[in-house]
Amino acid sequence: MKIGEILKREFSVSFEFFPPKSPEGEAELFKTIKELEALKPTFVSITYGAGGSTRDRTRNIARRIHTETNLTVMAHLTCIAHSKEDIMQILRDYKDIGIENILALRGDIPKDGFQTPVYGCKYAVELVRLIRENFGDWFSIGVASYPEKHPESPNMDWEIRYFKEKVLAGADFSITQMFFDNAYYYSFLERCLKENITIPIIPGIMPITNFAQIKKFANMCGATIPQSLVELLEPYADNPEETTKIGVEFAIRQCEDLLDNGVPGLHFYTLNKSKATLLIYQAIKHKIPFRVLSV
Ligand code: FAD
Repeated sequence: MKIGEILKREFSVSFEFFPPKSPEGEAELFKTIKELEALKPTFVSITYGAGGSTRDRTRNIARRIHTETNLTVMAHLTCIAHSKEDIMQILRDYKDIGIENILALRGDIPKDGFQTPVYGCKYAVELVRLIRENFGDWFSIGVASYPEKHPESPNMDWEIRYFKEKVLAGADFSITQMFFDNAYYYSFLERCLKENITIPIIPGIMPITNFAQIKKFANMCGATIPQSLVELLEPYADNPEETTKIGVEFAIRQCEDLLDNGVPGLHFYTLNKSKATLLIYQAIKHKIPFRVLSV
């Protein structure tokens, strides 16, 4: 099913996974998927290594989920390291498998003097165009958005300008980078509306279960961790149970506020674990708008 179409009808709940490196990791992932499948997610998504490092693993996991479960799958695809012909092959393969949803991304630029392939896509917008030009409406296309701006964007005007290009090129919906202060998301939505950007922008929720890891992620992607949350988490930096408790409580309050403000969906960065997401979902499910749950 095409996510863009589902989003026109109903609220979306989705889970993001990464492709594991080992058979043990894959077994663990499918256990997590089984547990989360009970929540009837609208879709699940599988990340992609920016340099193409997970090309086969992303495809194989996406295929397994598509063929072995009833879940709707979205495959992430980063364009930065691929030629257009490589990208076309990957897309043709997804089409053959029957996967209809792609998150079209550029990927992070590797640090060591990297050059985009000559016949490649320099920015995500070029990938969106390539998909639309060659596959029409066969794929529903999602793109990334950044309520606190992408680290490479000099300011929010720049951020919105290039986000709008992706929308005009044919993106159906967007998923945001993680954020911990909803004010950034609301202000981003306001700016988008002013620019007539009206596609659904689904907030990306990162449940905190490991403080050191989240500090590192947040630092890399430019997400602000509010000082009040830092003060709650810091004393328990070496206590995973207490960190998870605080992180889950925080995410519940964050999601409740988002639901009160009419978000089109919630996308959970699960890091291939089910516990935190399950706890958050149980606590907020009474606020989640009615879904047909037709997947
Ligand atoms: P773009 O939209 O191309 O933007 C990148 C930067 O370039 C921005 O600053 C933008 O303003 C600027 N820009 C865009 N067009 C132009 C132009 N024409 N001229 C000048 N500047 C321009 N990474 C992975 O490696 N694998 C994943 O699976 C993955 N999944 C993600 C999922 C989500 C929901 C999100 C939010 C991010 C994900 N990322 C993933 C991270 C993403 O790849 C990085 O943030 C990357 O640096 C930017 O990708 P993008 O698609 O947003 O790029």
